[in-house]
Amino acid sequence: MERRNFLKSSLPLAAALAITTDPSRAEQPAKTPKAKLQLCSQESRIPGDSLKEKIDKLQKWGARGVELSGGNLSKRVKEITDALKGTKIKISAICGGYSGLLISPDKTRRDLAISTMKDLLSVAAELGAIGAIAVPAFNKHTQLVGKEARDVLIETLKPIGEHAGKLGVKVLLEPLNRKEAYFLRQLADAASICRDVNSPGIAMMGDFYHMYFEETSDQGAFLSAGKYLHHVHLGSIKRKLPGQDARSFVDGFRGLKRIGYQGFVSLECGCIGKRDIEIPRSFRFLEKQWNEATI
Ligand code: MG
Repeated sequence: MERRNFLKSSLPLAAALAITTDPSRAEQPAKTPKAKLQLCSQESRIPGDSLKEKIDKLQKWGARGVELSGGNLSKRVKEITDALKGTKIKISAICGGYSGLLISPDKTRRDLAISTMKDLLSVAAELGAIGAIAVPAFNKHTQLVGKEARDVLIETLKPIGEHAGKLGVKVLLEPLNRKEAYFLRQLADAASICRDVNSPGIAMMGDFYHMYFEETSDQGAFLSAGKYLHHVHLGSIKRKLPGQDARSFVDGFRGLKRIGYQGFVSLECGCIGKRDIEIPRSFRFLEKQWNEATI
């Protein structure tokens, strides 16, 4: 039988169309929204004696978000809501603040990660944050490897995702570079884990500092992350402020524009020089690079 005839007889047209047009396979919505550059910083990077002082500086410098440390977060709700009052600053992500390990060989440690991450996500929801950042394991941790690690991670994320989904917040899986975490290093890998968990409460992020070492294309990495990408960290090659070494953000910003990114880009880096001068300078550098990222 000719190949064409064989295909005709063995694959009904309707089934063939279903394969090529199944909307669940599409990474992008039909109409991509216009991406926004929403500058943000981890609270610890901003100089100031109080959170209020830091928030006011961020607003003055043209930022739209603040990323909070997760330690003792439930005890800081009043301090945080008071500091945000009357400003345009929103909380982006929560960094750290849970215990246990998502891919531990010890079920007790995995269960601890589930329960403490759920608690953290509840506070994140109360504060109106996007969600909480999660690293499956750092290299220093005793952990599962390979297929078993991935299978266990997906099962561990399911109950957390269900909890997060009900609250309208997200777990943000963060790929790191191989020196810090070998298990999850590329954005496409994190996106495929999100796809396989298949929960609105499970999403991911990208960090320009780690991406420099692991990705072959910043733009390609963000395109592969697509709808699962809900947060971004900023850092240069040496993890200093954007603009303080040769790291370009233009190609990555093209990727963010192409996927219609609506989240924040948040400083997670050191600073050469006085932070009160250098951070606003870095924000202006990022705005310039965003404008250069034409698509
Ligand atoms: Mg990071």
